Amino acid sequence: MAYRAYGLHDFRRIPQMGLLTDEEKFVIEVVGNVLPFKVNNYVLDELVDWNNFEDDPMYRLTFPQKGMLSQEHFSQIASLIKQGKTKREMKPLIDQIRLDLNPHPAGQKEQNVPEINGIELPGVQHKYNETMLFFPRKGQTCHAYCTFCFRWPQFVGMDDLKFAMNETHLVIEYIKAHPELTDLIFTGGDPMIMSTEVFASYLNELLEADIPHLQNIRIGSKSLTFWPYKYTTDPGAKELLGLFEKVNKSGKHLSFMAHFNHPVELSTPVVQEAINNIRATGTQIRTQAPVMKGINDDGDLWAEMWKKQVQLGCIPYYMFIARDTGARDYFAVPLAECYEIFRAAYNQVSGIARTVRGPSMSAAPGKVQVLGTQEMFGEKVFVLNFLQGRNPDWVNRPFFAKYDADALWLDELKPAFDQEEFFFEEPTLKGATSSTSIHHHLN
Ligand SMILES: *Cc1c(COP(=O)(O)O)cnc(C)c1O
Ligand code: SF4
Repeated sequence: MAYRAYGLHDFRRIPQMGLLTDEEKFVIEVVGNVLPFKVNNYVLDELVDWNNFEDDPMYRLTFPQKGMLSQEHFSQIASLIKQGKTKREMKPLIDQIRLDLNPHPAGQKEQNVPEINGIELPGVQHKYNETMLFFPRKGQTCHAYCTFCFRWPQFVGMDDLKFAMNETHLVIEYIKAHPELTDLIFTGGDPMIMSTEVFASYLNELLEADIPHLQNIRIGSKSLTFWPYKYTTDPGAKELLGLFEKVNKSGKHLSFMAHFNHPVELSTPVVQEAINNIRATGTQIRTQAPVMKGINDDGDLWAEMWKKQVQLGCIPYYMFIARDTGARDYFAVPLAECYEIFRAAYNQVSGIARTVRGPSMSAAPGKVQVLGTQEMFGEKVFVLNFLQGRNPDWVNRPFFAKYDADALWLDELKPAFDQEEFFFEEPTLKGATSSTSIHHHLN
């Protein structure tokens, strides 16, 4: 299958666009001027249900929707387009709107950037002791874009790829200097946008460095949803699978962290063949996704998805909660509801699928799971738990927040039982950085 991508400049050439009214196409143009938009022929032909595209989860996953901008932002852009303004004339307004959309929730760009021998590694994040994220320079785009992606600023050119790097030798030096690191995660964008040749050069250098404490190599990717041909008929597919096999044979564990939002993404013959091919290399596929309104905010859907994943030999891993950036208002599901969705799904799968953890917020102090709601001492509370902590000592110490049916994120929660602060905010606690609280730091 030949890959054919469409974006803002040529989406009107998408064959299925004939099904849309002029107004619907105008919406794509308006919103697509602010938020990234890319779709491809596989998504269009195999995943979107064009008989019902207005309500279709895959359509919402990839096509800009009116509610993704505020009414004010929408009409500002719409009027400039109607006046026939050029890209350059529209740019100041577009830039302003993008800044209003909280492009970096949490200073996640500035924080967690490590150094080796006084040199900063801007393409690396080392937040949790055992695990390092690596953003290879050539892996900073995707086969299509998710409309909810929290990495949207890098796709619209706001980040100048400052985040990314290609200097593998520095990464290797860094890992060698950090014996606590067991896991390296290739992330992006989507690292599986890289050609086999480029990806092989990264991996070969890593394997040749022969670092015994580096045990697990992970690849975070949505390519099984957006372009499964990467592992079947694409040029370089065989070599890529060979490379996966080589990593596993070297004694490292290769884990493919696949992003699946909806069961339909697991339904095509080609994705199933791709999963089989990857697994045949000894690679383990683990799955993760955020809960998004209008896409997958339904417990039965998650149960179906986890069951299907297990049937295909994948291990359900994380359910996430949407971060506060980009089109988050459009997709937001309150914490309390995320928990109900998780519970409704978890209740109807066997222990084999209960490897999944969540719902979880990747917040400033760590990955915080909503374990449940409870009534204690006459107060309704959330029971929360660190799955990962900036300070490892915080992990697996359940704590309590006042119940709030509308809260969308950790920074909106208050400690229960009239406590002043959450335990991890106390400046005296070993490992806490300063008296800054999560109310000031979002990530
Ligand atoms: C989620 C995450 C990881 C990986 O955590 P695991 O629990 O080991 O899967 C690593 N770094 C960052 C910054 C993360 O958000
Ligand atoms: S594939 Fe991943 S990185 Fe790319 S747009 Fe989707 S969520 Fe973002």
